[in-house]
Amino acid sequence: MCIARSFNLFIWAVSTSKIVICTGITMTRILIIEDEESIAELERDYLELSGFAVEIENDGEQGLQRALEEEYSLYILDLMLPGINGFELCRHIREKTNVPIIVVSAKKDDIDKIHGLGLGADDYITKPFSPSELVARVKAHLARYDRLVGSESAVPDQIINIRGLKIDIAARRVWLNEEEVTFTSKEFDMLKTLASHPNRVFSKEDLFRKVWGMEPIGSDISTIAVHIKKIREKIEYESSKPQYIETLWGVGYRFRM
Ligand code: CA
Repeated sequence: MCIARSFNLFIWAVSTSKIVICTGITMTRILIIEDEESIAELERDYLELSGFAVEIENDGEQGLQRALEEEYSLYILDLMLPGINGFELCRHIREKTNVPIIVVSAKKDDIDKIHGLGLGADDYITKPFSPSELVARVKAHLARYDRLVGSESAVPDQIINIRGLKIDIAARRVWLNEEEVTFTSKEFDMLKTLASHPNRVFSKEDLFRKVWGMEPIGSDISTIAVHIKKIREKIEYESSKPQYIETLWGVGYRFRM
């Protein structure tokens, strides 16, 4: 049953949400956080048979640590866990990424609570469930997310429309909740660079090269933070809790899809 794990020795790279194995096949990584080992293994076996690379954590805290350190394409969370419960896990993972989260719970009441708390889970399954149904839902959410992100490819000369922020790349115009916002040329280029590659992390050096078209020298790089601050003042509801341009400390910035 352990198709994917049999390739583990040959994995080339595991830091991204997809791994490339020696055969050249790209596998989508899924993290299951579930303390009932038999359930976790059942989920894993069915998902592996469908070609996914699946990892399991049985403890909430360790699961959170792994979820924050690694990149996965989808998370399956149990709610009642030792350490940190699934509600908190869902909240923390959602702060980091918009990839699909499926919550598996033993109680219908928990699902009402998840809805009520607005934690951003994409789907809910109650135990007992059919593993085939779980696989079908996983595939549906991954396909939906891929369509949304557009394979993270650049989208030149298009209109980007995300959560009330509309960017007309060709016309170089931006609207927030249908009110036009004006940007300097460099601010627009920086916003365009980030928003055209949602979820991709740009270092300050990358942004400088893209926007100024040259290598940064000396204190050039400090202008990036100044521009990001000005852009946030124009598009973020709360600059200290940005919903569009996220800072990854020591790494750079990314536009959240
Ligand atoms: Ca549990």
